Amino acid sequence: MPLSASEQARYSRHLLLPEIGARGQQLLQAARVLVVGAGGLGSPAALYLAAAGIGRLGIIDGDRVDLSNLQRQVLFDVDSLDRPKAEVARERLQRLNPQVAVRAYPTELRAANAREILADYDIVIDGSDRLSTRYLVNDACVLFGKALVSAAIHRFEGQAMTYVPGRGPCYRCLFSDSAEGVVPNCAEAGVLGVLPGVMGTIQATEAIKLITGVGELLIGRLLTYDALELRFHEFRFRRRDDCTVCGTAPTITALRDATELCAADIPGLRQFSVEELRALLDAGATSQLRLIDVRDPQEFAGGHIEQAINIPLADLAQRLTEVQHAALPVFICLSGVRSLRACVIARQAGIEAPGHLAGGMRAWSGPASA
Ligand SMILES: [Zn+2]
Repeated sequence: MPLSASEQARYSRHLLLPEIGARGQQLLQAARVLVVGAGGLGSPAALYLAAAGIGRLGIIDGDRVDLSNLQRQVLFDVDSLDRPKAEVARERLQRLNPQVAVRAYPTELRAANAREILADYDIVIDGSDRLSTRYLVNDACVLFGKALVSAAIHRFEGQAMTYVPGRGPCYRCLFSDSAEGVVPNCAEAGVLGVLPGVMGTIQATEAIKLITGVGELLIGRLLTYDALELRFHEFRFRRRDDCTVCGTAPTITALRDATELCAADIPGLRQFSVEELRALLDAGATSQLRLIDVRDPQEFAGGHIEQAINIPLADLAQRLTEVQHAALPVFICLSGVRSLRACVIARQAGIEAPGHLAGGMRAWSGPASA
């Protein structure tokens, strides 16, 4: 369908770009994009996508607007306080561009509703602030064949990547270190308010490029942004044959909700920082501590703390007898996720105060090896 006079006026700056033009604009108007999370990332992403004339926009978020959101979530203002984010977002986007069909889902994305919701969209923008949701969205996109533009923010740093089915690696190919069904709880952390503005806008850019077929996508490239240094970097990565969801023999073949595991949920847990553990080892406390590295043997062989023994997490329940005589078992893994899971297993086996190394080997080896 040719563009109407008002569409020609509204999108004139797109029409002036030969790479977009009337054909690109029509592709945008036929596109269907779901934004997961109407927060810091979802706000700019959704605003720019609505302004660009995306045909159908879905906004899913189960939260209500809080005063602390206004520092970065530019969809909202003081009149939005205490109202459902998805609803307020829909009204705001509709005012920006009445030609866009905006649908609000004032709920959390879960394993139970993901298939039905994603069925109406071709591209998913993940702007959720929970790691469990990020894995769920990734798995849903792999299983249901949807393109995904993922981003995350922390303090002054952001990252973004794009997954297109059949064309490159998924989020789990890169971030595989989550023991099954368990991801670390992302405690509330500070974030520079303008940071998600940059990253969410990058997500909208990727979606528009995907739809119109212009440029080079962030497929197999993790883009990182450091606002303090004002530097972008990128890391290339490949699809892993052993990826648990997009690999050749996937173990994740249906969606399920991950349990967020938080150190505070494990009674008696002793959490060691790198500095604390180093100080104890330097002071010769090795007889009171038993360091147990719960990574796979090949990961262990690639480098470990000298005093540590290796018991892979999968074998831990059977081999706990090797542990119980130790004064204090301290579990270690790559990032501090599997080690928390190990503490849960140890607690279930009657070890009352298991310990773990917060941040795992990544923290132990320092940022150079991250
Ligand atoms: Zn994968």
